Amino acid sequence: MTTALITHADCLTHETPEGHPEQVARLQHILHALEPLELKRVTAPMAAEDDILRVHPIDHLRALRSARPQEGYAQIDGDTFLSPGSLDAAFRAAGAAVRAVDMVLSGEVQNAFAAIRPPGHHAERETAMGFCFFGNAALAAKHALDHHGLKRVAVVDFDVHHGNGTQDLLWDDARALFISSQQMPLWPGSGRADEDGAHGQILNMPLPPESGGDQMRAAYETLAFPRLRAFKPELIIISAGFDAHQDDPLASLNWSTADFAWLTSALCSIADEICQGRIVSTLEGGYDLNALAQATRAHVEELIKAAT
Ligand SMILES: [Zn+2]
Repeated sequence: MTTALITHADCLTHETPEGHPEQVARLQHILHALEPLELKRVTAPMAAEDDILRVHPIDHLRALRSARPQEGYAQIDGDTFLSPGSLDAAFRAAGAAVRAVDMVLSGEVQNAFAAIRPPGHHAERETAMGFCFFGNAALAAKHALDHHGLKRVAVVDFDVHHGNGTQDLLWDDARALFISSQQMPLWPGSGRADEDGAHGQILNMPLPPESGGDQMRAAYETLAFPRLRAFKPELIIISAGFDAHQDDPLASLNWSTADFAWLTSALCSIADEICQGRIVSTLEGGYDLNALAQATRAHVEELIKAAT
């Protein structure tokens, strides 16, 4: 079995203003770092509108389409911008996540990494925010549940920021376990431990600023892993943000590259135990270009190890 790397050149056409942390160079650095690895390289399709509409109302799509600029940028909120290529990139990003689910569930590959931007985990039902337009991880989860008929899916979000969008999109779905670790306090401000979903199926694990890998490992070992084992998802989707890295400029957790490898390896082991190793990972944040490239590579190397 193999690991798929799913991406598309359109994801490089989503441009942001000079100095913006969510920049084209992020994906270029990642793809360069993954070049030597043995992966099944797959071109991401555009998501179908139906895939988007599983989690967003049509008005959200219409609003983004009408905001799309012919040149320059349209500002959606304080730090979220649309360039002429952004919507194509967003459709490819969502399409990559959906394709990853299809490939893993069909047994074509053991697991998959979607190297995509824009990221997705801050996009709420009707609100693009925090560099995100469509909830890639959540719509991939809904695709697995509604299209493939799975009964239970888990989304694990280790981005340093809370996955408020994924939480919003999965809040009332008892079939979806959402586990999220995040620095607190930090933007967007949500993600307290008492935010636990309409069916108690959301687990938030806030981590204090300046905490490191030991605290992360303890939180996952004592809270997240037992919940995953008890829920028995048929697929694990990872919102893989690498901005908890100690070198990241947007936050102040102190995880090392080895911590990301440890967490990935542990999730792969649990997936082996409970869901035939099925993992779909989608890129979220990570803003120090070198740390992002190294941590992503470490993450993908663990996926490859688990697939062989
Ligand atoms: Zn983030």
